[in-house]
Amino acid sequence: MGTILPPAMSAAAFAAAMAAMVAEIGQDWVLTSEEDLIPFHDTYGFTATDIHQPAGAIAPADIEQLRGVLRIANEHRLPLWPISRGKNYGYGGAAPCMPGTVVLDLGRMRRISDVDVARGVVVVEPGVGFFDLYDFLEREKIPLWASMPGNSLGSVLGNALEYGLGYGPQGDRASSLVGVEVMLPDGALIRTGMGAMAGSPCWNLFPYSYGPSWDRLFMQSNFGVVTRAGIWLTPEPEEVLSLSMELPQESDIGWVVEALAPLCLRGVIQGPVNIGNFMRIVMGSGRRAEWADGKHAIPDARHADIMADFKLGWWGLHLSFYGEPDLNRARAKVVSDQIARHTSQRFTTSRWQRGEPRPQAPSHGVPISFPLRIANWISPHGGHLGFSPVLPPDRQAIEQQISRSRALFRQHDFDFYGGVTLGQRHVNVVNMLAYDRGDAEMTSRADQLFRALMEDARARGFGEYRSHLSYMDDVAQTYDFGGHALGRLNSWMKDAIDPNGILAPGKQGIWPRSMRETRP
Ligand code: ADP
Repeated sequence: MGTILPPAMSAAAFAAAMAAMVAEIGQDWVLTSEEDLIPFHDTYGFTATDIHQPAGAIAPADIEQLRGVLRIANEHRLPLWPISRGKNYGYGGAAPCMPGTVVLDLGRMRRISDVDVARGVVVVEPGVGFFDLYDFLEREKIPLWASMPGNSLGSVLGNALEYGLGYGPQGDRASSLVGVEVMLPDGALIRTGMGAMAGSPCWNLFPYSYGPSWDRLFMQSNFGVVTRAGIWLTPEPEEVLSLSMELPQESDIGWVVEALAPLCLRGVIQGPVNIGNFMRIVMGSGRRAEWADGKHAIPDARHADIMADFKLGWWGLHLSFYGEPDLNRARAKVVSDQIARHTSQRFTTSRWQRGEPRPQAPSHGVPISFPLRIANWISPHGGHLGFSPVLPPDRQAIEQQISRSRALFRQHDFDFYGGVTLGQRHVNVVNMLAYDRGDAEMTSRADQLFRALMEDARARGFGEYRSHLSYMDDVAQTYDFGGHALGRLNSWMKDAIDPNGILAPGKQGIWPRSMRETRP
């Protein structure tokens, strides 16, 4: 058996619940041994056996088994943490928020269906990974591209449910997820939007509903288990025209955001723009010992040499245009003219045309996983933690955010990984704190840095769009309008839809009634 039990459950009660699960879905798919549970720990947690330890894991094969699992969980008051592929690295991986929760691994539900080439839509189950979807589209010669994230090991559905960001015109993944099938804690199966009409051909085409739109209530939430969803894909473009520029100064980020924001707003630029600092490349290189002592951050004075060595600027700006060559050229000209108002530097241009082999890059719909190497920056037993505030696309706000975060990273002796993703009317900043797992002094410093970053952002009116399990309550507390009115609505909804509190207690700071006052 594992080393931990669900809170308020005796060993006998837990054993009885798991025995009922075995009877329902078979011995092979109910896991409790310490060894079997290793993949369900937070791979990047501060310690090897992190505080977010699961008591077990259960992997139903289909909807009927899932219904049985939820029935048993209700009968035994067994808390479950649904995951799709569990690769939510930097935010908790496959692990549950509350120690002792049983992971509900949906990875066996892995079908891709309802391919609509003309409309650019597929329906995926939770276990479908980005690599699976890419392989499927290639194998079946379907002329559609899926938006890929920097780490493509995860699931298409789980990443979209977490508002994940990626490359290409559909890079805002939450808005590419249209039409959700979800099982409520009582076993009822719901289809949202047009899918509420049996046999509707528009389930995954129209993003709204007749009446309230429920899709988003199941994102970053613990109100249901999502079993399928429609994903919008990009028709294979005739051409991809890519522009790149290395920007030499840290302060360049302000004018770049200010210059590009109106072009995102007006639809000249398709999809999110990713701008990352040089450390995102350097941290994947494994060459740390050349520039830093022990586990200390690389001194700022070494940065210029490192950038020169890697032929990188402080920021890398990479943009791609997708579609008709004439349109691509027109878009690229508008962007180049705008950038030319601020710098005499010129973009490097590259072109891919339909029929050519695709570059192995997420900008071209091809999955990758090598960026995960940054986790081992400090040691082979490394991990990283994401800090992800949302800002307006405003020059001063971004400049201040970067320089304030940089100062805090310096103060806590961490290397600064900064990424900025420009959406249509906002900016997501993603900072990665890389540390040595198991080094108590360093992980305690990482915790202090995270808290300092969160408090600093909150003081300026900026909240996180996503958070690691350990900070879900703290981040929820920063959303305080009306004396935490949204939190109260979430709690009310939780109690109505999941009266026994079986689904993902603590997710995004939403706890069931029985645990609200005395959190386990
Ligand atoms: P990925 O493998 O795509 O990176 P995960 O499977 O780790 O994503 O999911 C990230 C988080 O999203 C989970 O911790 C869970 O809170 C939520 N989640 C994932 N899949 C589902 C689902 N099918 N239904 C409800 N919530 C889910």
